Amino acid sequence: MNTCGFIDAAVEESLGAIGEALAKNGKVVVTGCLGAKRDFIRKIHPSVLAVTGPHDTPAVMDAVHAHLPRPHDPLVDLIPNTGIKLTPKHYAYLKIAEGCNHRCSFCIIPSMRGDLVSRPIGEVMQEAENLVKAGVKELLVISQDTSAYGVDLKYRTGFFRGKPLKTRMNELCAELGQLGIWIRLHYVYPYPHVDDVIPLMARGKILPYLDVPFQHASPRILKLMKRPASSEKVLQRLRDWRKICPEITVRSTFIVGFPGETEAEFSDLLSFLKEAQLDRVGCFAYSPVEGAAANDLPGALPEEVKLERRARFMGLQEKISLRKLKMKIGKKMKVLVDEPGIGRSMADAPEIDGVVRFKGGRAGEFADVLIDRADQHDLFGRLQ
Ligand code: SF4
Repeated sequence: MNTCGFIDAAVEESLGAIGEALAKNGKVVVTGCLGAKRDFIRKIHPSVLAVTGPHDTPAVMDAVHAHLPRPHDPLVDLIPNTGIKLTPKHYAYLKIAEGCNHRCSFCIIPSMRGDLVSRPIGEVMQEAENLVKAGVKELLVISQDTSAYGVDLKYRTGFFRGKPLKTRMNELCAELGQLGIWIRLHYVYPYPHVDDVIPLMARGKILPYLDVPFQHASPRILKLMKRPASSEKVLQRLRDWRKICPEITVRSTFIVGFPGETEAEFSDLLSFLKEAQLDRVGCFAYSPVEGAAANDLPGALPEEVKLERRARFMGLQEKISLRKLKMKIGKKMKVLVDEPGIGRSMADAPEIDGVVRFKGGRAGEFADVLIDRADQHDLFGRLQ
């Protein structure tokens, strides 16, 4: 189980997920950021098999082998060339880099995982191709900062099937787009060059879906967060993206109740939300994480203020989401079936977004669903 430990809400979510996994099959190895807090996890979940820190594949594999004997393979390698994959057979995460060059004041990932280290593009493409050959139909491209891919390597040229390719997000997207499966981008920091992947989306090469964590809209709060963004520019770029690719789904996350956030700054955020009309939104009430620079900022807000702002924020977003989802009623949508009765359209990433519900379908297959109802999160329809 991979965990995230950069804000307390995520810690709680991860702890809950560990408990769920233990209840389901009793064999859990904890890894990722939260794995750095070994004693803390063991205190709450003493029956986990092992706890490893982030980016420690050998320790994870040791734990897996210690508790799960590897099947005998008379040929060369015991591990399939698709690698070890913990998702259903039809989708997989493709990690393209580790670490981050930013220093957002609420986050401790850089201090745990270090600066950005990109994987060579040839290696990433090879893994993607192996996964496709193994039957994967959707790849979720992830890293701490996907749009910075290759910066540390000065966009070095690598090779895939003998073809030279720059180690850069846009080149990677173009190449992944040749694989003929769903390619979904996560954790894309809004750098200007991100604009160049939108035409790929419009041409159907990669999914028209962008997960861009904006975090806030008030210039002062963004500065305190150490996020180099301006909400005016963001709004203009959203307009431009939608002009090029009208069906684009934009997902984002926000933090409310950051130290010193005034009611006026929170209102600015709500105005931004109204204007931006984002499709999918996650929102955390700020909570201090041990070691984060933001802990030293003055003006910590009372818990009830943070929660009340979060509730107002989500209340507004639910209205926006319902309105946008209702616009899909009467449309036929292609979905990837996760399990009979539940699928995801191009607009829905697994685990974090809504789903499309219907009767029937086979896990791992694509299906067409005619949408006849919507709520704030999900769509409902009939198989065609
Ligand atoms: S971009 Fe900011 S929030 Fe994301 S991993 Fe880097 S430092 Fe943390």
